[in-house]
Amino acid sequence: MHPRHRLGPAFLALADLLLPAPCAGCGEAGERWCGRCRDRWRSPGLLDLPGLPPVLALAPYAGSARAVLLSYKERGRRELARPLAGLVAAALREGEVPPAALVPAPSRPAAARARGGDHVLRLARAVVARSGTSGAEVPADGSSPAAPRLPCVSRALALGRRAADAVGLDAAARADNLARHLRLRPRGLPPPGCAVALLDDVLTTGATARAATALLAAAGRPVDVVVVLTVADPRARTSLVRVGSRLPGGSHPRGVRDGR
Ligand SMILES: [Zn+2]
Repeated sequence: MHPRHRLGPAFLALADLLLPAPCAGCGEAGERWCGRCRDRWRSPGLLDLPGLPPVLALAPYAGSARAVLLSYKERGRRELARPLAGLVAAALREGEVPPAALVPAPSRPAAARARGGDHVLRLARAVVARSGTSGAEVPADGSSPAAPRLPCVSRALALGRRAADAVGLDAAARADNLARHLRLRPRGLPPPGCAVALLDDVLTTGATARAATALLAAAGRPVDVVVVLTVADPRARTSLVRVGSRLPGGSHPRGVRDGR
């Protein structure tokens, strides 16, 4: 057993106060996320992938960026949601994506419980909170807000309980397995007619994003842009081309899809 695990939670909280957590990216003491590691996230790329709308990716799934994501997702560093949300909001601005309904890619219920919550949902809420507008969340009970303001969070997707995180599969096979168990929550759909952004933490094969965009398109809510914190294949990244600049004669992203 790791010595830390023998200590009580009160002691650990006190220890974190006295000895702040090290950088989530490089592990150096001093800052919880140092400037050098944070800079890795400041040049979002735009990916053109078959069968998907434009994909905005903030960082490669490697090195310190991967360490930051895993710290946030698996190691209880929930405080990273706010700075990560700031970077997502900046990427959306840079990509000239209009205010959108953010649809978080769901976690398996058991995984979310083990992690103390759904990390992509928490991130989506933090992005909306950072936007400075009072975005609404489509209520879980299905009642639509009368006039939802954008951006907002739309929990339109869920993973069935049977979506086991199959042991022995590699990351790509696991993603494909989860994509097959993705289902629609019709009561959480984005408001009709607004821009829709799918939000996920890592793009591996793109299977989850493809399954999600297909489900949402079939429900009449086509996805305009996929936003991922990290992308597993850095060769897929290109320099940033504005999403909005692709739109003929305006900033409404529907035009992006019309050419596909
Ligand atoms: Zn660092």
